[in-house]
Amino acid sequence: MRPMSASVPLEVIPLGGCGEFGLNLTCYRYDDELLAVDCGLMFPEDGMYGVDLVLPDFSFLREQAASLRGYVITHGHEDHLGALPFALREAPAPVYATGFTLSLLREKLAENSPGYKVELVEIHPHQRVTVGPFTVEPIGVAHSIPDAVSLALRCGAGLAVHTGDFKMVGPSQDPSHDHSQGHKSPLGGTDIERFEELGAEGVLVAVADSTGALEPGLCGSEGDIAEPLADLFATTSGRIIMAQFASNIERCNTVARLCRRFGRRLALEGRSLRQYTRHAESLGLVSFPPGLRATLEELQSLPSRRAVVMVTGTQGEPGSVLRRLALGDHPNLSVQPGDTVVLSSRIIPGNERKVNRLVDLLCRQGATVVDAVRDRRVHVSGHGYREDLRRMLLLLNPRGVIPVHGRYRMLIEHADIAHQVGVERVHIPQNGGVIEVNDQSMRTTGQVEVGRVLVDGKGVGDVEELVLRDRRHLAATGTVVALLTLDSSGGDLVRPPELTAVGVLGSQEYDEILGRATQALAKTIQELPPSARGLPEELAEVVRRRLRGFFRKELDRKPFIIPLVIEQ
Ligand SMILES: [Zn+2]
Ligand SMILES: [Zn+2]
Repeated sequence: MRPMSASVPLEVIPLGGCGEFGLNLTCYRYDDELLAVDCGLMFPEDGMYGVDLVLPDFSFLREQAASLRGYVITHGHEDHLGALPFALREAPAPVYATGFTLSLLREKLAENSPGYKVELVEIHPHQRVTVGPFTVEPIGVAHSIPDAVSLALRCGAGLAVHTGDFKMVGPSQDPSHDHSQGHKSPLGGTDIERFEELGAEGVLVAVADSTGALEPGLCGSEGDIAEPLADLFATTSGRIIMAQFASNIERCNTVARLCRRFGRRLALEGRSLRQYTRHAESLGLVSFPPGLRATLEELQSLPSRRAVVMVTGTQGEPGSVLRRLALGDHPNLSVQPGDTVVLSSRIIPGNERKVNRLVDLLCRQGATVVDAVRDRRVHVSGHGYREDLRRMLLLLNPRGVIPVHGRYRMLIEHADIAHQVGVERVHIPQNGGVIEVNDQSMRTTGQVEVGRVLVDGKGVGDVEELVLRDRRHLAATGTVVALLTLDSSGGDLVRPPELTAVGVLGSQEYDEILGRATQALAKTIQELPPSARGLPEELAEVVRRRLRGFFRKELDRKPFIIPLVIEQ
């Protein structure tokens, strides 16, 4: 090992998240020892059929596994945490994160890798830990999930600040803070004072989130939406269906408070929503007053003006609660005229079409939809806007800035802001680029292997592997083709569904089982609300789900379902 000296540079190596949404993973290397910050995944884009998740390519981490000293995770969003269980298999190392993030990670590891042992270390703002050649200090930031932190990373080359996702909202500015209930607030606010102190100490480089770089002004605090939502609660006489991101615990608190104030009871519907709130409840980050929570059945027996259902699925994801409600295909709940559906969320870029279809379907069922289009005050982002980004850079006053996370244009805009505040060196990174940072300069000196790895229900691989896997799957389980002929005017079925199975059933059972499958399918379709019946794409989704369920239950098999919807 070389003697520690200021001439050894710090290397910043983003392995994902630059020029794209998700896959956030950045390596810091000093004197041949490595620290990985975050390890996120990406949800498949349109057209990635059959792909469940996208992971960063871990080749570099695998090669460097012997010098990897740890993973530090800034917060629990999937684009920062979701790929970690996969990375740990290839390049094991201790994981450092705050309480809520660790709580989520423990459950993920138990699900993904039962029996897998890894050292998990809880970190706290204002407490430093040593990870290899780095001293890591977490700094609390406001974001849209509890316990988010920025990281001050000190090594022989100087001080680097990795902002993670943040917005500039200090604790005192946030009126939604309610300490009277005895729970600590999930959004403790951004520790502006500490950032200022770091700035005074001298920051060599700031590696900063760019997601909000196209939005003018300040992002605003969670408290900003409390009043608009209160107006909505005050003026709505029907049931309220509140859709939001499951991890936004502070919004759960906001809605719970409104329910109490307006005498409504609250049901949480959707696995991820219950999962996140369970973690938050166990850490005292969310509190539901006694008697506030209700089951769907209990809500059903109340007048609609006393009911709120919180759901997930703001992006129109197939299978999500809101999507199934929109299709009229949820087993225990349906949208009625008089319902108000609040989409307290933003549209993640790329999901515009899915979300618009979702909103249309809800409107067709007679619901009033209140989203950011109608009233932009029903949602506040967790990502700092241009003014937030500018203020952060002013506080840190870094010698260099590396804008990360977001589409290329966002990185450029963020770089512009850095130039405007007088940052000397600004470097737009490429995934895999090795950026050498020292007192004198900041430049790319090399390139390591990066890419995307696709995951489907059966494992990890590249595109060709997934195609081969589909073929093996077909060979092993067979295929069911469902032909539905719609009347082009009304959207009703012209004749009963026609099913053909290949490689699924023996001749003995063929007619009997297929006959029952046909009946079950016809019944499901009949029960769909008229609004969802005539739409080929939505119908195909329902058919796939219904038949998958049928064959799983009847035969314990998962044939490949191909719905064909034609109009006549
Ligand atoms: Zn985030
Ligand atoms: Zn993020």
